Amino acid sequence: MSVLVVGSIALDTVKTPVEEHADLLGGSASYAALAASYFSQVRLVGIVGDDFPESEFEFWKSRKIDIDGVERAKGKTFRWSGEYAWDLNTRETRSVALNVFETFKPTLPQSYRQTDFVLLANIAPALQSHVLKQMEKPRFVVADTMDLWIETTRADLDALLPHVDLLILNDSEAREMTKETSLIKAGRKIRSLGPKYVAIKKGEHGALLFGDENEFFSCGAYPLEDIHDPTGAGDTFAGGMAGYLAGTTKNVHFNDLRKAMIYGSVLASFCVEKFSLERLRDLSIEEIEKRYEMFKLMSQFEFAT
Ligand code: AMP
Repeated sequence: MSVLVVGSIALDTVKTPVEEHADLLGGSASYAALAASYFSQVRLVGIVGDDFPESEFEFWKSRKIDIDGVERAKGKTFRWSGEYAWDLNTRETRSVALNVFETFKPTLPQSYRQTDFVLLANIAPALQSHVLKQMEKPRFVVADTMDLWIETTRADLDALLPHVDLLILNDSEAREMTKETSLIKAGRKIRSLGPKYVAIKKGEHGALLFGDENEFFSCGAYPLEDIHDPTGAGDTFAGGMAGYLAGTTKNVHFNDLRKAMIYGSVLASFCVEKFSLERLRDLSIEEIEKRYEMFKLMSQFEFAT
């Protein structure tokens, strides 16, 4: 089965306390699509300018990512630049240039409209709704969001939420959205706004998953010693989850979501090991499964009394 992924395709400039790199492939859809491609077929929707490297199209094709929905427009590709503090946790956006993204309003190719799984990666919620409205009865809709949309386009986000099966956001965003300090209260409150399931990411402390009252799951993060570039970890997590669900399930149950959350965490742990998408470009299934097994071992406990 396939997953449709819509989001930003960007050229990023990223500065950490030790390195700086310019014009790297980035954007929420780039990370999410590549992560998802390890589990299922991907149909990508986005826009790039005429400065975008042709080699990336070849790369997507080599990963069997369908690029019929990627528009090539006159002008410059969306650009984002961010700088990380010494702890690699806090990040400041240095600049954003929307460029061709400013007028992006995609019309989906006919061949995309019956895709069963949809990942609305991080973009403006009105654009996420615009894409979703063109889909014919998707089975499962995953959406990612960010503080910017909670702060500036809350009505659009609220209008989208009843159509979302799984909403993914980070801990500070969940608190901001609900004005709750407790993440448990926040997760439950967000469910009452529409999504059947909510995943709250806690960075290096793992993630929480909320379903109905009896459904709750908490998973840790992979114990990494060396992080080079945290950019895109959240998008990769979302792509890993959505791709796993599309590739392995028909009707999504809570147990599938638990596994998907671990695969999302595995992919995100690889993402941050190198700059941009470099570490994600040629992962092997064996590497992915090895980390998945490690997650299983980390969460098993049985103490002798
Ligand atoms: P993350 O580290 O998961 O928050 O994702 C960072 C990626 O999101 C970068 O590659 C950026 O190009 C992209 N990005 C940053 N701001 C936006 C925005 N306002 N809309 C869409 N994508 C964005």
